[in-house]
Order: sequence, then C-alpha cells, then structure tokens
Amino acid sequence: MDFGLTEEQTALRESIEQFAQARLNDNLVDNDKAGVFARENWRECAKIGLVGLPIPEAYGGSQADAVTTMVALEALGYGCRDNGLIFSLNAHLWAGASPILRFGTEEQRRRYLPAMCAGEMIAAHGMSEPGSGSDAYALTTTAVRDGDRYLVNGSKTFITNAPVADVFLVFATTDRRRGFAGVNAFLVDSDTPGLTVGEPTDKMGLRTSPMADVHLDGCAVPASCRLGPEGGGSAVFNWTMERERSFILAAALGTMRRDLERCVEHARTRRQFGKPIGSFQAVSHRLVDMRLRLDASRLLLYRLGWSIDRGQPAGLEAALAKLSVSENFVQSGLDAIQVHGGYGFMTEYELERDLRDSVASRLYSGTSEVQRNLAARQLGLS
Ligand SMILES: Cc1cc2nc3c(=O)[nH]c(=O)nc-3n(C[C@H](O)[C@H](O)[C@H](O)COP(=O)(O)OP(=O)(O)OC[C@H]3O[C@@H](n4cnc5c(N)ncnc54)[C@H](O)[C@@H]3O)c2cc1C
Repeated sequence: MDFGLTEEQTALRESIEQFAQARLNDNLVDNDKAGVFARENWRECAKIGLVGLPIPEAYGGSQADAVTTMVALEALGYGCRDNGLIFSLNAHLWAGASPILRFGTEEQRRRYLPAMCAGEMIAAHGMSEPGSGSDAYALTTTAVRDGDRYLVNGSKTFITNAPVADVFLVFATTDRRRGFAGVNAFLVDSDTPGLTVGEPTDKMGLRTSPMADVHLDGCAVPASCRLGPEGGGSAVFNWTMERERSFILAAALGTMRRDLERCVEHARTRRQFGKPIGSFQAVSHRLVDMRLRLDASRLLLYRLGWSIDRGQPAGLEAALAKLSVSENFVQSGLDAIQVHGGYGFMTEYELERDLRDSVASRLYSGTSEVQRNLAARQLGLS
C-alpha cells in the first residue's frame, strides 16, 4: 500500500488550493449572513474542472479517479472557506451528475452532463419529504403512468440547490404497496409545468448553499426522463447515497487542516500568564487530538477511495468514513473555538461559521445513527 500522492496529485492539490484562496473567499461573512449563493464562483470552479471531477472527459468532466477526486476536494476545502458553496457542489456532483452517469441512457447523459460539468446547469436531489427522512422509502410522492408520461404529485423537503437548480432528480412511487420496489427516479427540468420551488429555507449553517422545498402538482414527466428501469429507483438511490457518503466529506479534511493550522499559530502567539497558551498542556493536547482526528479521518477516507478505485465493495468503509469524519469535523470545530477563547466565538474570526457548517454533516446523506445502522448490517447484524 502506497500512502504517497503522485506528482500529478500533488500539483493538482497545490493549484486548487491557490485558486481557491485567491478566488473563492470574498465577502464570506456578509454572504453567510444574507445567505448568498456565489454563482460566479461556481462558474470559476467549473472552469478548472471541479464541477465535473469524476465525470469522463467524453461528457466534459475531468475523469479523476476516486483518490484524485478526494485530493482535489480536500484542497478545495482547504483553500475555500465557503463551505456552503462546496456543499452545493458536492450535492450536484454526487446526487445529480454521478447517478446520471451511472444509470442514464446515452441521450440523458448527453443532455445533462456536458452542461453540468461546464457549470451551466445545476442539479438537485429530491428524496426527503416532510414524513420521510431516515426512512426514505416511506415516501408518499406518487408517479402515475399516463401513456408515454408519468404524472407526479407530492412534496420534497430540505432540497439542496433547489432555488438555483436546473434539473431535479426526483424519487416517487408508482405503487406504495411494493415499498422500495415501487420507487422510481425521474429527471425533472426546473421549468416543467407543475414543479414549483418554495421560499429559500433559513438554516443554522451552510447558509450560502441554497435550499428549499419542492412541490410537484400534476407534473407531467416524459417516460424518457425516468432514470433507470421501471421500479429501479431504489437501486439509483442506494448507489447514489453510497457514492455521496463516500465523497461528501473529503472537503472537510481541508477545513479541518486549515483550522488546525490556525489553532497552532494562535497557540504559539497568544500569551497568557506570561507564556504562549500552547505551552499549557491542556491546550497542546487539544491540538494533538485535532491532528489525530484529522489523520484518522484522512486515512479512513483515502482507504475508501483506494477501494473504490479497485472496484471493491466498500459499503462498510463508506458508512464508517462518513460517520467518523462528520463526528471529527464537529468536534474539531468546537476545539478550534475553545483554543481561540472568546475570539473564536466572534463572527469575524470565521471559526464559528465552520462549526455551524460542520453540524449538518452528522445529518445529511444519512445521520450518524443511520451510518451506524448501515455498518451494523454490514457486520451481519440487523
Ligand atoms: C444541510 C442538509 C442538506 C440536505 N439536503 C438534502 C437534499 O438535497 N435532498 C434530500 O432529499 N434531502 C436532503 N436533506 C435531508 C436529509 O437527508 C435528512 O435530514 C436526513 O435523512 C434525516 O432525516 P430527517 O431530517 O427527517 O430526520 P429523522 O429521520 O426524523 O431523524 C430524527 C432523529 O432520529 C434518528 N433516527 C431515525 N431513524 C432511526 C433509526 N432507524 N435508528 C436510529 N436512529 C434513528 C435520526 O438519526 C435522527 O437523530 C438534507 C439535510 C440537511 C441537514
């Protein structure tokens, strides 16, 4: 096993860090307060291939393997302090573009992927509903076949990117009695009559990542827009969630690394009782724990990438990595504030925002409890 990066990966990491530091960090405090999505920065990310990282070049993507994709996302997380922008980009990549690549017909791929990779089209993923979150297959949105189309009715909630999305991957059931086997996935363009997007949702963190509810009222979706075979929605959803939970926290490694560096610098320079605070063991041990969590997170995630690149089943590894990295992300966010004392609590220091942004990682793509359930199942427990 080789723990080193290739020359290309090292160069990619450096170039993305420099790009992100120089181009993606303007007005973050104000944008966070006002909930502004940086559409122009999305286009900048697209120009250097970040919006289509794992998508083949034939469809306009960067064709990066899993480990290289993680390296690129970690670099983005390190250089870009707009966690909301990165979260939106991840949702687009893993819950929009990737399932289209995996399950789409050639026509669907050609229609969506080049525009998505070019930053011209943004994707959103609509599974959660007011009554079904962790129990996703209890969804009540229905799709009734009507000739060569489906009529879709229902409401989706917590939909990342909904206010700016051009296409929605919507899950609906054609037969509730069949449970997950009755679920279908559809690609629904945002201008389809009957699809409406609610008011942007206000939230604790990731405020620059727009979110809203989505309503489907007699929305006529051509049968050619179904993703995957009839009744194949659960396969689409399960695959998509495993992919998403594998990659969505790679950028968090970069955020943790950046915050740790800031903490070490602060502990060296901030003096109390006539000494740098880093000379107090209570402080230095906290920094060591932050470093330990960062290294453990990176090892879990890159091992997962390594398995994905070899085509090995990695369901257990994905659940463990998502669980561990998200919990480490939140704890390191708390520690960064503690090391900075009162300053860490103040908005202008931009650490409290990282903490607020991190909390959602324990919820999206399956909560920490759900990751434990998935891992338990992989261990042969029900
Ligand atoms: C920032 C953010 C972005 C999101 N983006 C999207 C999106 O783009 N598209 C989309 O479809 N959804 C999205 N979601 C929704 C997300 O998938 C759900 O919030 C998540 O699946 C949890 O569902 P819930 O919120 O209904 O909580 P619930 O399922 O009601 O869970 C409440 C609590 O009960 C626990 N719990 C539930 N069932 C079990 C169980 N069997 N065992 C143990 N504990 C259990 C949970 O872990 C949690 O602690 C997003 C959520 C957030 C926070």
